[in-house]
This record gives sequence, C-alpha cells and structure tokens, in this order.
Amino acid sequence: MSEIASLLVGSENIEGFLQRTVVMVAEHLRVPVCSIYLYDEMNRELALKATRGLNPGAVDRVRMKLGEGLVGKAMEICNPILKGSVKYNPEFKYFNEAYDGRYESFLAIPITRGKERIGVIVVQHEGPNYFGAADAMALRGIAAQLAGVIANARLLIGLDVPTPPPNIDEFFKRLRFVKGRSASGGFAFGLSAIFDHKGAELGEEIITVGETSTVEDFKRSLSETARQLEELQRRLFERLPEAASLIFDAHHMILKDAGFSRRVFDYMGSGKGAAEAVRLTANHYIKLFSSSSHEALREKALDVEDLALRIIANLQAINVADGMPVAERVIVTDMLYPSDMLRLVAEDVRGAVLVGGGLTSHVSILSRSLQFPLVLVDNKELLGIPRGIPILLDADLGNVYVDPAPDVVEQFETRNKTRASIDLLSRNVRDVTLTRDGERIRLMANINILGELEIARALKAEGVGLYRTEFPYLVRSSYPSEEEQYQVYRKLFSEMEGRPVVIRTLDLAGDKMLPYAESRQEDNPQLGLRSIRFLFENKDIFEQQVRAVLRAGAGFYKMGILFPLVSSLDEFREARDFVLSCVNQMQKEGLPCNDRPSIGLMIEVPALVDIIDDVAEAVDFASIGTNDLVQYMLAADRGNDKVAKYYQPFHPSVLRSIKKIVTAFSERGKEVSLCGEKARDKDYLPFLAGVGVRILSIDPRYIPEVQRYLRELDMSEARAYAERLVGENTVAGVLKQVGDWRESAYDPLYSHGSCNARKDDLYEQYEDS
Ligand code: PEP
Ligand code: MG
Repeated sequence: MSEIASLLVGSENIEGFLQRTVVMVAEHLRVPVCSIYLYDEMNRELALKATRGLNPGAVDRVRMKLGEGLVGKAMEICNPILKGSVKYNPEFKYFNEAYDGRYESFLAIPITRGKERIGVIVVQHEGPNYFGAADAMALRGIAAQLAGVIANARLLIGLDVPTPPPNIDEFFKRLRFVKGRSASGGFAFGLSAIFDHKGAELGEEIITVGETSTVEDFKRSLSETARQLEELQRRLFERLPEAASLIFDAHHMILKDAGFSRRVFDYMGSGKGAAEAVRLTANHYIKLFSSSSHEALREKALDVEDLALRIIANLQAINVADGMPVAERVIVTDMLYPSDMLRLVAEDVRGAVLVGGGLTSHVSILSRSLQFPLVLVDNKELLGIPRGIPILLDADLGNVYVDPAPDVVEQFETRNKTRASIDLLSRNVRDVTLTRDGERIRLMANINILGELEIARALKAEGVGLYRTEFPYLVRSSYPSEEEQYQVYRKLFSEMEGRPVVIRTLDLAGDKMLPYAESRQEDNPQLGLRSIRFLFENKDIFEQQVRAVLRAGAGFYKMGILFPLVSSLDEFREARDFVLSCVNQMQKEGLPCNDRPSIGLMIEVPALVDIIDDVAEAVDFASIGTNDLVQYMLAADRGNDKVAKYYQPFHPSVLRSIKKIVTAFSERGKEVSLCGEKARDKDYLPFLAGVGVRILSIDPRYIPEVQRYLRELDMSEARAYAERLVGENTVAGVLKQVGDWRESAYDPLYSHGSCNARKDDLYEQYEDS
C-alpha cells in the first residue's frame, strides 16, 4: 500500500501512475498480465487505460460496455470474478488487438467507492486455476486503495463547467472574547485560518511580495511543494502509522494535472506574475468545485486552496523553513472530519475552533487522543474572521481570545510551561491499583490511535481494555485492506508487551460516519445500520478485519475480540461463529493465527439487561459501554446538546442495570469491565466499585488520577453508597445522594469544587504538592 503512495508521488500524470501500478501489481502477484480499465459513467463504458503484458497499443482502444465480457460484468455486478480457465468461456471477450488469447486464469476485481463505479483491475496467467482466494483478497486491498486515488484524479480530469457560486463576501466583526465549550483540552496560540470545506477563493492579499517570478520559478515551486508534501506525508505516517499515507493524494493529483499548469502559463503569458497566475488558476478551480452538487467535489476546493497557498508561499519564499503555510495556525471551521484533524495535526496546526456544532463525539475523542486543543462555539460570526488574526485558545475552559493583549498571551504561556508532563504524572503511579482496604481494581487503557500506547505504558495501564478500531477506517478515503489492518494490530500487540488487549470490531455509523460508506444517508443513524449490524451486512469487510485481528494476535494469548452494539444472543452467536469460521478457514490456508481468542460483547443496548444471566453464560467476557447504554436507555442522543439534560448516567434505571450486569458476571466468575467515559468520573467510581466492577478501561491520561482516588476509597463506604444510589427511584433522589457523598467525602479533589476534576485540577494538585 505504501508503494502505491510512492508510485503516485513519482508519476508524471495519471496514466503514468496507472501504468506503474499495473507493473507493480504484476510483479507482486508474479503474473504476466495486469491491466486497469476505467469506467465512464456517461457512456456506460470501460476503457483499457494501463496494461502490463497485453499489447500497449490496445490502451484506450479496447473498450467494452457495462455488462459486456467478464470485465464489463465484474463492473456491472460490482463483484470479483475469478475463473480457473476462460478458454471456452462464452462470456470472455477476446480482443485481437490486445493479444489476450493465450491466458487461461482470470481474475477481475471491481474498483468502486461506495456505490460509485470507478473501474476494474484484471490479472491473467497462462496456466489454468492459477488464482485463489488469497490473490482475490490481495487485489481487493489494492483496488480499495486505487479507488480513492483514481476518484480524485477523475474529479480533476472530467470536470464539467457548472454555474459559478454566489459571491458571498464575508465581513469581519471584531470579537474580543468568545465563550465556548471544551472538546479537548490544552492551550493554543496562533494566527487564524478559516477552514470552511468550501474552499474560499483566494484574495489578492495573500500575495505579499512584489512579483518577479519566471516560468522556471513556477516549476521550481511545484517541485518544492511536491517535496514538502512528501515530507508531510512521511511525518504523518511516523506519528500516526495507522493513518492513510495517501491523505494528500488530491494535492499530488493537482500538482500533476497538465490543465492546472497550462492555465497558470496562460495567465503568465498574458503578463501576470507567477503567484498571481497561481491565485487566479486556483480561484477558477475553487469556483468550479465549490459550486458542484457533489459533496466530494466541493471538498476538493479545499485541497486546491491549500495547495495554491503552498505553491504561492514557495514562490514568495514565505515559511519555507518548514514549508507549511498553515503551520502555527489556529483553525476556525464549521465542520471537522477525523481526516481533517489528522491533516491539521500533521501540519502542526495549533488548535481549532469549531463553530455551530458539527461535532461528532468521535472527532472529540480523536482530538483528545491527538492532544489537539479543540473548542466548540455557537457564535457564527467567528467564521467571518480574516486570515492572520492572532487567536488564543484556552481549550481547557473553552475560551477563545481574539487578538489578545500581549500580557494575556504571556500569562498563558507561563501556565503552559508549568503544566505537568507525562513524566511528572507517571512518577507516582503504581503497578497495581488497590483500594484503601486492599481490593484490586485493574485500570486498563482505551486506545484510539497507536500513538497513545506510549502514554498507556508510561502510566502503567494493565492492558488495553478497548481498542477502537474505527480510526484507521475513519481517516482513510477507502476501506483499509486486511494487510494494512494487520500492520496496525500487530503493532498494538507488540507494544503492549504481553499485557491483555481487547480489540473491538468496527463500530461504524451512528456518529462515526465513513465518508465513503453508504450508510451516511440514513435518517436515524444512531438506530440504523451501525456497528455489528453494518458488519453483518458487509461480510467482506467483517472478514478482512477479523482475519487481520486473528493474524496479528498469533502468539498472543491474552487477546479479546469485542463486538459492539449487540442487541441479542442471536447476534452474538452469529458474530462469534463468524470469527470461528475465519479461524477454521485460516487454519486450512495454513496461516498463523490466534485460534483461541476470548470473545465478548459490549453491553450498550438495554435489551441485553433482561437476559443478562444468559448473556453472561454465553460470552467469555463483556464490557459495559455507558456512553451508548445511557443514550439507548434514555432515548437521548449522546451528541445532542439540546437533550443533554435527559442524558443522565445517574438515572436509577441505568444504575440498577449496571448493578444487575455486574452481579450476573461476578456470579459466574466472568470478567466484565466498564469502558464508557463514566469509568473515570469521581462520583461514579465509588458506585462502580461498590457494585463490584473490578476492571475499568479509561483514557490512559487519567490513570494516575483515578488510581489516586481509588487508593483512598474504602470499599465498605463504596458499597453503602452504591446501595443508597440504587435505592433511589428518581434522578433528583440519586443526585441528592451524590451531593451528600461529595460533601462528606474524604477526597481532597472536591475542595476544587468540581466533581469531574479536569486535568488542570490535577496539575494544580501536583503543583501544590
Ligand atoms: C461506549 O459506548 O460507552 C463506548 C465505550 O463506546 P464508544 O464511545 O466508542 O461508542
Ligand atoms: Mg459505544
């Protein structure tokens, strides 16, 4: 997969890229023929675009309609076609000019993106029965990667001229201070940049240096920009090995697009300087893209904008030291996808202000994992702020300071320097967590990105209680292949050095949409085709993931597979049997794998509570996902501020359900953990300990704080507290008990007046001590 990325970087144009790809695939699969056909939706026709092994003169000449021949059929049905021999197959269509008569074995894999048909990749071999399921799997992974790259290329190549967008001139209103909410803590100071997913047309003000550039300067700036993008991609890959290495693929496509350069030359020919010519060219494309009715196309405007800024910066030798025009910026935006955040982090953007909602809870989880300060504000006027205005974010408190006075900035910088580092936090952490009276509670880590494993180890997590596998999916533009996933999971196991690791299967949809999955169209996604349901409907994706997990877990005996959003024993059994059938299949194939994973489920759907004794019998282990359990028990969307007051983890039914679940598992000596955000809430902790929870899986940054709290906890007091809470029948009654507990609490943390001590409180305590 990384080879595909490098092929793209090293190719002159799209045709060159496809040609290098077929050569690479042919070599890897050791086949004489590999060809790529691209599909033209308008004419419903496939054309041969690149081949290794067939007559190169047939490129562009060999064409077939949708459904015609085996290639056309693979495209029509959007499914692979594997034939041991096509010699006497009436469906196979020979093309004399292609010289493909002597090849018997045939394998065609459609290249698709969601429902969009992009093309077909075909491999052929002289002998019969040459290809097997493993080849199909490998080629599917490649097709998935190609889909994203080619889709971007096609957007550029086949662009129609739509009507220009209405000209919206944003005006700037000076806002000194805006109060918002914190999504992810931290401090950020930098110059403003607007990120509006439309791609704003570039104004003349971006050209700050007098123009003297020549055509040669322009060409140099293009290669310099390409080099910087490669460097950025490399750094991103180092920091987030699970992230797409192709995150800047659209940029590369534009850089290689002859039409883009031609237009710049035309402007230069009519007397414009190079930077101005790039600006005008970029604006032409931004206009086209942003007025498209396709969201994917509109987003390309942003890539054009970003790229043009880079080229212009290079032309003007601005910021060339690190070559990142948006570095040291604070981004203001009204929408943020996980892939955006990765890009921003890769570019050293300092933080972001998200205006007017648009946040999915997983963007906020990801921002915390990446330690990327993020503040949510409602004031839409902030979107009108011009580029380049200093902004200070106090993301711990959710405050935004526009153009702050120097002494305000100084204050923050001093505070930032004295923040506790991981070193300081880890100094006092013990290997094992015991309550005051010696009850052992295991603190495990919730891991979203591999970068967090270091913190988990430093803070002595006893293992990974929840690895959310969706992030490698969320940040890509197409499904990751089995091999890509295998690499990620392998790293997860090896970095945890023999400690237990629980991997959750893909928990998509709901608030975690894939830009390339179809489920985003649902009216009610939280109740829709999400999580395990999505995998049941997409068995190929399920299979690739399970195979990758089992392969990565070979030789690691403390491995758990966890299914999210299961609502019945029937579903659990279906999912478990699927895993076992994958084990069987892999053993037949002779692939090393973990053949005895512990198999469990997340308890997130209230329907499991009434049958919890049977569930506890059936599964190896379980984890209570309070984030979702509360939302489904109380019919209150976990991400919707308007119903936040109905989202009440202290509801007596929630508390009694947790007690019931934990009791059912303890009676059978089976493990049940709690991995929702409540596992680190200091009002919840004594309740959880009191009802018998002995494994908590939390954001590893909170381990020292939770451990210190538990070390002071007296179990008999905790049991009594839990009994009092479940004895109440109203939320108000429970909250009164919580208040009383807090007042009588021995816990010095409460002297800060916050029941959920923020990280800051913790730092202050360290400073005090
Ligand atoms: C939960 O629902 O509590 C949970 C841990 O899963 P997620 O937050 O990923 O939905
Ligand atoms: Mg959940």
